[in-house]
Amino acid sequence: MNEGHQAVTVLGLGSMGSALAGALLDRGRPTTVWNRSADKARPLVERGARPAATPREAVASAPLVIACVLDHEALHTVLDPVADALAGRTLVNLTSGTPEQAHEALAWARGHGAGYLDGAIMTTPPGVGSPEKMFLYSGSSTVFEAHRPTLAALGDPLYLGADAGLASLYDAALLGLMWSTMTGWLHGAALVGAEKTPATDFTPVAIRWLTTVTEFLTTYAPQVDAGRYPGDDATVDVQIAAIGHLVHAAALRGVDTALPELLRSAMESARDAGHGSDSFASVIEVLRGRAGRG
Ligand code: NAP
Repeated sequence: MNEGHQAVTVLGLGSMGSALAGALLDRGRPTTVWNRSADKARPLVERGARPAATPREAVASAPLVIACVLDHEALHTVLDPVADALAGRTLVNLTSGTPEQAHEALAWARGHGAGYLDGAIMTTPPGVGSPEKMFLYSGSSTVFEAHRPTLAALGDPLYLGADAGLASLYDAALLGLMWSTMTGWLHGAALVGAEKTPATDFTPVAIRWLTTVTEFLTTYAPQVDAGRYPGDDATVDVQIAAIGHLVHAAALRGVDTALPELLRSAMESARDAGHGSDSFASVIEVLRGRAGRG
């Protein structure tokens, strides 16, 4: 089959669904679109998309159906009444959800004779179509491989494994990492900002520091897997002393101390569980609930 001409249907034309359909059109995929509010299809139709009047017509238009609506409730609202039309087709669900919702959707799709792949989009709409941006997929490897060329039009497709819940699980974990990082950066910006340093001066230094932090992650990952945390770089005890300086400096400048207090509490729990002379990676024992909070 000429993958360049595989027909695709996109259900849901919010910010993200419109970007997905746009990227498919940019790569020359014959693309059928449907949205609850029909007016959102217009710009895509002007770019060559085929509008479907109903979800049934949309599903029937292509062997591959990509859904990107608000949540799983909306997904079922759209697809339940036309489930029979999915038989023999593939549903790639890029609607955000929990791993449990992915398992439910897989069972639902299989029950209606459809292939199913769950996905998570690790970018905002302007990044869709860029080969650098990650799209995470989990579910049947056969389904993934069959549609990989089309999925590559959206971004870099990363297959995580047969458990359909993995994409949502990684998504949650990666968003947690994003929020922690961005909050840490904003806290730092507030701290230096209290001394009139603009965020634009602080940020290049912060980004350079993040490069070093990624090296720590690479060092600590095997320690986490092995459950052994040699404190041969910086120990938990040393970091508890250091975070005290952050709490002190923030408090004196009227900057909120809740975030560093939370981090210090986790480190102190690790220390109290016997990890004081271990590396920072040992804090995972606290996060896993294996070491009690002090
Ligand atoms: P959005 O702009 O608010 O679009 C929501 C879409 O869901 C619209 O097409 C909307 O239709 C549809 N919808 C909502 N309730 C519906 C219902 N009951 N029945 C039928 N359709 C319904 O949101 P978005 O940013 O495109 O996000 C869509 C999905 O992508 C979400 O799961 C989101 O978490 C995920 N996502 C978004 C981003 C991002 O940066 N935006 C990044 C990663 C993942 P109407 O137009 O008719 O309201």
